Amino acid sequence: MRKHTIRCSALILIIITSVSFAAAQTKKPNIVILATGGTIAGAAATGTQSGYKSGAVTIDAMIAAVPTIRDMANVKGEQISNVGSQDMSFDIMLKLAKRINELLPGNDVDGVVVTHGTDTMEETAFFLNLVVKSDKPVVMVGSMRPSTAVSADGPLNLYNAIGVATDPNAKGRGVLVVMNDWIQAAHSLTKTSTTAVQTFMSPLRGLVGVAAYGKNDFYNTPVWKHTTSSEFDVSGVSKLPRVDILFACTDMPADLIDASVANGAKGIVIAGVGNGNMNKASLDAAASAVKKGVVVVRSSRVPTGNVGRNVEVNDDELGLIASDELNPQKARILLALALLKERSKQEIQNLFYSY
Ligand code: ASP
Repeated sequence: MRKHTIRCSALILIIITSVSFAAAQTKKPNIVILATGGTIAGAAATGTQSGYKSGAVTIDAMIAAVPTIRDMANVKGEQISNVGSQDMSFDIMLKLAKRINELLPGNDVDGVVVTHGTDTMEETAFFLNLVVKSDKPVVMVGSMRPSTAVSADGPLNLYNAIGVATDPNAKGRGVLVVMNDWIQAAHSLTKTSTTAVQTFMSPLRGLVGVAAYGKNDFYNTPVWKHTTSSEFDVSGVSKLPRVDILFACTDMPADLIDASVANGAKGIVIAGVGNGNMNKASLDAAASAVKKGVVVVRSSRVPTGNVGRNVEVNDDELGLIASDELNPQKARILLALALLKERSKQEIQNLFYSY
């Protein structure tokens, strides 16, 4: 009798253990895909033509094109917008950030993937990096070829993005961009080719890791402040201040700076030559903009290297800010957020050293 009871209990234990093991095996992470448009959602009339329309395909159709992503995660799609990222705006970026901040605190969401055009992906990625309030993975993805192209790159990029978003090792690294097998950090990546599939590079900081068919290898953790360590909060913000970017060149007309100020810019980023330089006339115009209360940041049109303070320009005397490692388009995002509250020049300069 006693022997029989022991045998029964052992059997029950084995059944319970196998049922819970099976349940653990089938419990997949929950990922929400927020779609904004871009070439990844683009369509052309044939598979081999270069002309196409961005933002023509819905998120449900994109998910249906890669059914195996459902083996990795429970996925749900939401359409935030459906635009080519040349038409991305501060308004859509705010809507996207607020939706992510609504979703991520929930126990039923393990990560977010954002589909986006590549033209301005680095701007939205950097913006989200500064305003998302969670260390759960936020992964951005796009493609260089439309969904209808021969050898479209979108489906595998989306698969890999889901693979990164479900990976516990992706946590705490800020907003990541996954394209063409590479995992890169919002702070450091930039678009380098108008057409090549391998367009995103992080020239100064290198890769965060590599993604291969849902398996990832992480090499680096970005050192800059982001997400949970960021002081920026857009929860009560409905509009960002105007910040213009002006491109410096030989004989740059200084009245571009005056025009920006006259049209209401609260900040100006100069995509300077070399180490954030501009001609004497523009420097004088920049100094007079500063006297009117406009914050002027010197960045560079050169793709690599940082812009340092007081190198060929006396920033201390003229009241200018140096962008450090941020290119003009990311310097503009940081400055727009910085201008949401009163800050001294030194405080703004420190933001450029920390983010
Ligand atoms: N113009 C497109 C966009 O940024 C290009 C792309 O997605 O690759 O939406």
